[in-house]
Amino acid sequence: MPSAEILTIGTELLLGEIVDTNSHYIARRLRDAGIDLYRTTTVGDNVARIAQAVREALTRADIVITTGGLGPTVDDPTRKAVADAVGVPLEFHPELWEDIQKRFAQYGRQPTENNRRQAFIPQGARVIPNPVGTAPAFAVETPDGVVISLPGVPREMEYLFNHDVLPYLRKRFDLRGVILARVLHTAGMPESALDEQIGDLERLSNPTVGLLAHPGQVDIRITAKAESEEAAQAMIAEVEAELRRRLGTRIYGADEETLEGVVGEHMLDHGLTFTALEAGVGGELLRRAGKVAGFQGGEMVAAPLDEHALPEKLHACCPQQQAPWALGVSLFPAEGANRALVALVRPEGDEVREFHFGGPPQMAPNWATNMALNLLRRRLLALEETP
Ligand code: ATP
Ligand code: MG
Repeated sequence: MPSAEILTIGTELLLGEIVDTNSHYIARRLRDAGIDLYRTTTVGDNVARIAQAVREALTRADIVITTGGLGPTVDDPTRKAVADAVGVPLEFHPELWEDIQKRFAQYGRQPTENNRRQAFIPQGARVIPNPVGTAPAFAVETPDGVVISLPGVPREMEYLFNHDVLPYLRKRFDLRGVILARVLHTAGMPESALDEQIGDLERLSNPTVGLLAHPGQVDIRITAKAESEEAAQAMIAEVEAELRRRLGTRIYGADEETLEGVVGEHMLDHGLTFTALEAGVGGELLRRAGKVAGFQGGEMVAAPLDEHALPEKLHACCPQQQAPWALGVSLFPAEGANRALVALVRPEGDEVREFHFGGPPQMAPNWATNMALNLLRRRLLALEETP
C-alpha cells in the first residue's frame, strides 16, 4: 500500500486566517482510495522552508501532495520550491503560456509578466491541465516518489484531484482495493465505558474500529480494506457481530438510522403513542420527539422542575386518554456538572431517573434529549422481552 503526505502551503493558514480544508478533503479521498496518509504539514509562503518540507516528506512517503502557492504573485513560491527540492531548474512551457493568454483573452483581459511565471514548472514535470482556473498544476516523478502540486483554491484543487490525480495514482500504484465503512450507533453508554468493553477491537489494524463521541451517543466506525466489496463486507460483518455480542441493545442502529427513527419503529410495533413535556430544555425534546412516530404533542416550560414536580406535571398536562405514555425531561445546566431528570409515566407506574453530564451547558439539551429517547427505547425493548 503506497504512503502519502500532504503539504498545505500558505502563510494565511499559519496565521489562522483561513482554515485548512484541503488537507481534510484530500485525507478522505486518499483513505477511500486505499492510500495510507502518514502526515500532514503546513508551511508558510517561503521557498526554502517549502523545499525542505518536500525533501523530508519524500524520504518518508511515496506520494507528496502540495496545495497552494501556485498563483502568479511573488508570494506564490511552490513551483520554485518543488524544483529546488527535487534538484531541477524551472522550465518554460510555451503551451502553458498560450493557455494562460487564452484564458485572459476570454475575460477580455491582458496577462501580466507575473502571469508568465505560471508557465514555468519544474523540469521534467507533467503538466496537470487546469480547465477550472489559471494556475497550472503539475506532477514530478523522482526516484524517491512523486510530488504533485495543486492550487490552493478548494474548488480547483478538488476538481484536479478527482479528474487527474486520483486516476493517475490508481494507475501508477495499481490500486484496486476498496474501503468500506459501517457506523454503529450506541446510546446511554459513556465513551470510557465503551472503551473498556471493546478496547481490544480498537487496536485491530484491518478492519479498524474507532469511536466518535457525541453528547449522549457514541458512534463506532468499522472500516475494512479488501480486494473486493464482498470481502470488505464480510470483514465488517465479523467485527460487527462481535461488537453486537458484547454491547447488545446498547447499539440502537447503524449508518443512517437515528434514535428518533428507531424509537418510532418500536412505538408503531406496539401500537403505542406518547406525549412529552420539557422543562429548561429550550425546545430540543419537542423538536426531536416530533420526528418519532406516535408522538401526540407536548408542552414546554422554561424553568426546570424537580423530581416531584416533573411527574406531577406530566400527569396534569398529558392525560392518558390522549396517549398511554408520557416522557418528561428537566434540565439543570451547569458547566461541567449538568444534571437532567428524565421521567416516564405509563399505566404501569411512574419512573424518574437522574443523569449527569460533564460537558458544556450548550450541549446539555441535546445530551438530555438523547438520554430521554434512549430511556423510552429501553422500556420499549423491555416490552419485547416480557411477552
Ligand atoms: P491562486 O492562483 O488562486 O493564487 P494558489 O495555488 O496560489 O492559487 P493560494 O494563493 O495559496 O493558491 O490560495 C488561494 C486561496 O485558496 C486562499 O486565499 C484560500 O482562500 C484558499 N486556500 C488555500 N489553501 C487552502 C487550504 N489548505 N484549505 C482551504 N483553502 C485554501
Ligand atoms: Mg495565490
